[in-house]
Amino acid sequence: MSNLMNTYLRLPVTFARGEGVWLWDEEGKRYLDALAGVAVCGLGHCHPALAKALCDQAGTLIHTSNLYHIRKQEQLGTRLTALSGMDNAFFCNSGAEANEAAIKLARLYGHGKNIDLPTIIVMEKSFHGRTMATLTASGNRKVQAGFEPLLTGFARVPYNDLEAVAQVAEHNKNVVAILVEPYQGEGGVNVPQANYLQGLRHLCNQNGWLLMLDEVQCGIGRTGNWFAFQYSGITPDVVTLAKGLGSGVPIGACLAKGIAANVFKPGNHASTFGGNPLACSAALTTLEVIEKEDLLRNAMEVGDFMRSLFKAQLADLPEVIEIRGQGLMIGIELSKPCGELVKEALKKGLLINVTSDKVVRLLPPLVIQRSEAEQVVNILSPIVKEFLAA
Ligand SMILES: *Cc1c(COP(=O)(O)O)cnc(C)c1O
Repeated sequence: MSNLMNTYLRLPVTFARGEGVWLWDEEGKRYLDALAGVAVCGLGHCHPALAKALCDQAGTLIHTSNLYHIRKQEQLGTRLTALSGMDNAFFCNSGAEANEAAIKLARLYGHGKNIDLPTIIVMEKSFHGRTMATLTASGNRKVQAGFEPLLTGFARVPYNDLEAVAQVAEHNKNVVAILVEPYQGEGGVNVPQANYLQGLRHLCNQNGWLLMLDEVQCGIGRTGNWFAFQYSGITPDVVTLAKGLGSGVPIGACLAKGIAANVFKPGNHASTFGGNPLACSAALTTLEVIEKEDLLRNAMEVGDFMRSLFKAQLADLPEVIEIRGQGLMIGIELSKPCGELVKEALKKGLLINVTSDKVVRLLPPLVIQRSEAEQVVNILSPIVKEFLAA
């Protein structure tokens, strides 16, 4: 019984506490968390360094507003721009808000070039959030249906299709930016083809567009690099972050470089909570722990290890279409809808997700050890086999 709006089909479990990759429910049953609050809890649950930083910050200063200078926000801006090669940061509270900032930035950039109806190229199967602009940008009818009228100013093309983007460039002179997830998350853990991001960068350069990367899910170490775009060797104009940035304390960021970094002027955009001392200390500590504990390398190595174990167990089954991903962003695509696997795994004490109907998605904490990764594979593989045999 609750008085909550009916927005979630929740699984029949309530967690009481967590430690590392483990969660315990109210009855004391233990679960191995291979989802990490949907790519949020990269440090695992209740990392002592994070708990201490939050307690210290809560006892010192929690919130003041962006009417004043905020030292921790300045420090976080410096840290994130250094890691990403961007110039400036805007802080908000979620992934959708980070993308809202990017969308507004692109529109303002367009108006600055006397483009009155600026258009942003977005991808099929993309997910950018649940606000009106970000659900319009998302390539998934399920998040849009019932919320029309949608916004104008978006042109959609298939993901991994450079030719389609080039076509838009020829016919639509209002384009100001491309917004794309380097690795698509909700859309099924879709991996960029070789030279895709480089090709998008090239088209942006040719046409004076901003390349805006939604790294809300794939950023902050998830793929084994600080940012997924760093595998491609390109530099984007805008990068959006959220999920893993605050390890569970809500914080989002819109980073921008060069011409994009100074588009916003005072009064153009704002957030009451955005970048407050508590959230920024969570993010600063998250980045510090990732570095200290060598979690980028761990994500890369354990991710490769998990994919190889899954391939050994499952790749020969004809109903297993593909095992893919990068670092600790792992997708196992099956030939049929497999949402029921989530409940089967839950019964066996394993937390997983299914996205895009047919793709088992794993986003374990960046701290996961090889032995724990083996346990994930050894619990999940038989469940998948049994499901496919039924
Ligand atoms: C989760 C997600 C969002 C939305 O983030 P919220 O914090 O839920 O608003 C946006 N983009 C991507 C790629 C995501 O995975």
